[in-house]
Amino acid sequence: MLSTMQDVPLTVTRILEHGTVVHGRSRVTTWTGDGEPHRRSFREVGLRAVRLANALRDGLGVSEGDRVATLMWNNAEHMEAYLAIPSMGSVLHTLNLRLPADQLVWIVNHAADRVVLVNGSLLPLLAPLLPRMEPLEHIVVVGPGDRGLLAGCRPAVHDYEELLAGRPATYPWPELDERSAAAMCYTSGTTGDPKGVVYSHRSVYLHSMQVGSAESMGLTDHDTSLPVVPMFHVNAWGLPHAAFMSGVNLLMPDRFLQPAPLAEMIESERPTHAAAVPTIWQGLLAELTAKPRDVSSLKRVTIGGSACPPALMKAFDEQLGVQLCHAWGMTETSPLGTVALPPAGVDGEEEWAYRITQGRFPASVEARLIGPDGAVMPWDSESAGELEVRGPWIAGAYYGGAGAEPLRPEDKFSPDGWLRTGDVGVISPDGYLTLTDRAKDVIKSGGEWISSVELENELMAHPDVAEAAVVAVPDERWGERPLATVVLVEGSTTGYAELRDFLATRIARWQVPERWAIIPTVPKTSVGKFDKKVIRKSYADGELD
Ligand code: ADP
Repeated sequence: MLSTMQDVPLTVTRILEHGTVVHGRSRVTTWTGDGEPHRRSFREVGLRAVRLANALRDGLGVSEGDRVATLMWNNAEHMEAYLAIPSMGSVLHTLNLRLPADQLVWIVNHAADRVVLVNGSLLPLLAPLLPRMEPLEHIVVVGPGDRGLLAGCRPAVHDYEELLAGRPATYPWPELDERSAAAMCYTSGTTGDPKGVVYSHRSVYLHSMQVGSAESMGLTDHDTSLPVVPMFHVNAWGLPHAAFMSGVNLLMPDRFLQPAPLAEMIESERPTHAAAVPTIWQGLLAELTAKPRDVSSLKRVTIGGSACPPALMKAFDEQLGVQLCHAWGMTETSPLGTVALPPAGVDGEEEWAYRITQGRFPASVEARLIGPDGAVMPWDSESAGELEVRGPWIAGAYYGGAGAEPLRPEDKFSPDGWLRTGDVGVISPDGYLTLTDRAKDVIKSGGEWISSVELENELMAHPDVAEAAVVAVPDERWGERPLATVVLVEGSTTGYAELRDFLATRIARWQVPERWAIIPTVPKTSVGKFDKKVIRKSYADGELD
C-alpha cells in the first residue's frame, strides 16, 4: 500500500528560497584582514545568488547540467555560488586550491568545467594553468587581484560585480529531479588519479538537516559558526547549506587561516561554533598560549578530518573552557559520518572515554565492520575490521567523466554496494566508532598490528611534543616496525631516550618504536592532514636516519 503523502523533491533551491526569506536577517560576515569585516544579510546573499544565476545563464550561456567551478576562499560570494549554481540545475564544482598544479588541471579537464569563479587573490595560481584547462570558456574574477595576469588568455574574463549588476531579482527556477547532481568534489587522490564524488540535491538537503540537528552540530539562528574548514574541502563539511537552511550566522575567514587572525576574529566576532581539522586547533592553542585572547564565545568546536589527539581536547577543555567535539567523515560521505557526543547519564572519565572516540552514527548512516577474512564483525569494542557504510548521503560510485559510466572500483565499493572507507577500527555495543588507523597506515609488526594513531596520541600527550607522526617502515625481522617522527615544542631538549621511556609507561613495550627522528614540522596534505607518504619517502631516501 502506498502512502498518501506528497512527493516533493528535496532541493538546494528550497534551501535558497527559505533562507533568503525566513532567515533574511542572519548574516554572512567575511573577514577582510584590515579590521573592518564585510557583512551581508542572508536576504542580500539570497538575492545576489538569484542575480548570479541570471548572469550565468544570460551572460555566459550556462545551462542545466553544466559544471561551474569555484577556486575561492570561504566568503560571502562563495556562499552565493553555493546557492545559485545548484538551484539553476548546474553543478557546483569546488576546486581545492592547495592541490598540486597537475592535479588541478586534471580535475578541471575531467569535470569539463565551462566556467570558473576565482578570487582575485588566487589569480597567480590559476593564470599559468589556463592554457592546459581546455574546457574553460569563462573566468569570473571575484574581488581584488592582479587582472593583468589574465592578459591574452583564451577564456573570456569577467568581473563578478559587473556581471551581477542590473540582473533581474527573480529567476524561473527549474523543477529539478532531487537525484540530479548539485555539487561535486574530487578526493585528494593519495594514489592514482583524483576521484570525483557527485552530490545530489537530495543528499545535500538531507545532509544539511543532519548537520543542523542536535545530535550533530546542533545549530540555530542564535549561533554564529566559523567554518575554518575550506569550502573546497567536502563543502566545508556541509556547513554553508546547513546554515542557510537554519539561519545560522556564518563567520567566513576568507584567506586568513593562520592562528593569529583566527584568534583575532574569534575574539572580535564571537562565534559560538567552529569547525576545522586538528592541525588548525593545534596552531590556535599555541597562539593562545603565547598571546591570550578571549575565545569564550565558542560553545562547541567540531574537529575531524584526522584523529584528534585526546591531549588536544583536554587542553582546550582545561585551558580555554572550549569543548572540542570529535567527528569522522570523508569526501565520499558528504562528509558527516559520526559525531562524538557522549550519551546521557555519563560524566567524568566515562564521558571522556566517549568523547575521544570518533563518535556515533546517525540513523541515516548504516555501518558494518569487515574482518580480515571478509566476515562482518560484532560491535563489541574489540573486534576490528574495515569500516563500510551506506546511506542517503554516501557515495555509491565515482564520476566517470562526461558520457562515461560511473566508476565502482572494487577496493572502494563492496559487491553489495557499501562504501569501503579504508578506515580500520572497532564499534562499541552502543554504536560508537573508534578508528585505530587507515588500512594503509597500520603497522604490521610480526603478525600483530600496531595502531599509528595510538602511538601518535600517546606521544602528543608528552608536554614537550608539539606534533608526532608515526609510519610503518620495513624491518628485516618483523616485516614492519614503527618510525616515530616528532616535532618538539620550541626550546625543548628532550631526547629519544626520554620519549621512549615515556611511551613504555603508556603502551605495550613491544610497540615502542626503535626508530626515531626529530623533525622541524610534520608535512601536511592539501587539507592539513599529516602527509605520511612524504615521511615514508624521506625515510626511504635516507633523510631521516
Ligand atoms: P582524503 O582521503 O583525500 O584525505 P577526506 O577528507 O575525504 O580526504 O578524508 C577522509 C579520511 O580522513 C577518512 O577516511 C579518515 O581516514 C580520515 N578521518 C576523518 N575524520 C577522522 C577522525 N575524526 N579520526 C580519524 N580519522 C579521520
